[in-house]
Amino acid sequence: CGIIGILGSHEVSPQLVEALKRLEYRGYDSAGVATVDAKGNLGRRRAVGKLVNLSDRLVHEPLTGHTGIGHTRWATHGAATETNAHPHQRGPVAVVHNGIIENFRELREEVIALGMTPESQTDTETVALLTAHYIANGASPVEAARKTLKRLQGAFALAFLFDGEDDLMIAARRGSPLAVGHGEGEMFIGSDAVALSPFTDRITYLEDGDHAILTRAGARIFDAQDRPVERATAQIDVGA
Ligand code: GLU
Repeated sequence: CGIIGILGSHEVSPQLVEALKRLEYRGYDSAGVATVDAKGNLGRRRAVGKLVNLSDRLVHEPLTGHTGIGHTRWATHGAATETNAHPHQRGPVAVVHNGIIENFRELREEVIALGMTPESQTDTETVALLTAHYIANGASPVEAARKTLKRLQGAFALAFLFDGEDDLMIAARRGSPLAVGHGEGEMFIGSDAVALSPFTDRITYLEDGDHAILTRAGARIFDAQDRPVERATAQIDVGA
């Protein structure tokens, strides 16, 4: 339901939760964050219910790192449980997702046939499983995400984070809105400019079918055919 992503220069977990608070008005049943820490380790924490449950979890089981993604979930496939909460992770990849992957049953059968066992009932987890499969077969994170995106049907926004990659995030938009935020040596993504307002007011909206490859140096945006494209960046005042 709500997505935030930060390639930052501070501890990112509190920033992710702060941004998710700004998306609370959209409604949600569970929430979670994933980070890549200074050693490159990808980790996640999730909690059912209000964001305060996630903050409590982070107090008892801190998650360090300057790079992270966060999500508030409004369940469409699978009950509102911690196992079904985002981020979904398999091996080196973690994913947050808004919307619905229409062909997830078919993709789920495919990854099961490859020997992978889904742990959740969500449509989203198939995205993590498929991407992990491509990486296991030699694809780079960018190649794997692109291959996965070409397999997906439905309306969605997605953000990917990768183990060992603390200066990389991939974001994709089909149907659901997604904004890229430009900071000073920091980059952001959000399902809503409101989520980005504590960090930056310089925003680039992805167009339908676009994906963005983000590092702290900036965002490279590509269309559905993987061709580099220019999208306008504007100063957006959403209020404090
Ligand atoms: N379809 C996904 C799920 O049920 C994402 C729902 C959302 O947009 O929050 O987990």
